Amino acid sequence: MSTLTVDSPLLERALAAVATVDDPEIPGVSIVDLGLLETITTTDEGHISIGLIPTFSGCPALAMIASDVEAAVAALPGVEAVTVSWLTAPVWDIERVTSEARTTMATDLTVAVRIGTGPTPCPRCGSPTVEQSEFGPSRCRAVHRCESCREVVEVMRDR
Ligand SMILES: [Zn+2]
Repeated sequence: MSTLTVDSPLLERALAAVATVDDPEIPGVSIVDLGLLETITTTDEGHISIGLIPTFSGCPALAMIASDVEAAVAALPGVEAVTVSWLTAPVWDIERVTSEARTTMATDLTVAVRIGTGPTPCPRCGSPTVEQSEFGPSRCRAVHRCESCREVVEVMRDR
């Protein structure tokens, strides 16, 4: 993530702590790998300030993610205070998800990542999938079905 500057040992530990937080709806995938972490700074000694960007505004997991991040960082030695805020800019887009996270989602969770406007390929067989409902179990994801292997696929998207 090119915008992140981690220039102190405390910030390095704080970043590592944030990276232990998974998206509650995508177990096993760190919010850092999902591209949610935008800024991490120390405003003064021992005060960590973290800026996150939401994957989809109104996603009900946001409050849980913020409190998980706060708890993980607050537990570090040398940290006196933690501020977690949701930024309104930049807008999250699917390109922020690392390729490792995309692979984990596809193989472990049958969650596909839609890039661009073409059909989303099935994580199992690569065939095009067809949208079944605009909103899946989470507002962040739609539900598709593979035309070839009939797998039900959740699709993460940025709009
Ligand atoms: Zn398939």
